[in-house]
Amino acid sequence: MNNYHSVPSTDSKPIHLALFYTQIADQEIQIIKQVLTKTYSGVIDVYKAGEIKLVDEAYNPNRNQYDADILLRYLLERKKSELALWVINKDIYCKGMNFVFGYAMYYKGAILSIHRLQTQDLIEKEAIHEVGHILGLEHCTNQCVMQYSNSLWDAKMKPSFLCENCKRKTTSFIND
Ligand SMILES: [Zn+2]
Ligand SMILES: [Zn+2]
Repeated sequence: MNNYHSVPSTDSKPIHLALFYTQIADQEIQIIKQVLTKTYSGVIDVYKAGEIKLVDEAYNPNRNQYDADILLRYLLERKKSELALWVINKDIYCKGMNFVFGYAMYYKGAILSIHRLQTQDLIEKEAIHEVGHILGLEHCTNQCVMQYSNSLWDAKMKPSFLCENCKRKTTSFIND
């Protein structure tokens, strides 16, 4: 795992988080942007970075799913120095998992798939969760959006907010 020093110091200014998307309604992207801005106020500055094409080589025809690892690598090559989140509407998986809602690399970026997320509430929670990982948060056992969700049920049961402990960690991210 990287440490806090792997992101260039920004003198406590919010760090830019580029929001990329593929085949997602503009209204949905606006909502995700608002929710992230509100949750991580002062920590990140979320901006719409634009639509990008899915990577064909990430598609696995045997599973009819996209390989989250390949997508994330593609995203990290594409974005420059900032943090990035890529929201897509295809089912994704990673090694050893039938599917994942999201896939992140600490202090770099994440993929969020809304494919299995049936409600707006779930999309928002998982967006907050993935960005939490981008900001270095690990899974948390408190009443917290960073609880690990292995299923839709888990995702439904967890709250949509960060616990005090996780919140504190995200602010130390920029004040480092
Ligand atoms: Zn997670
Ligand atoms: Zn927490």
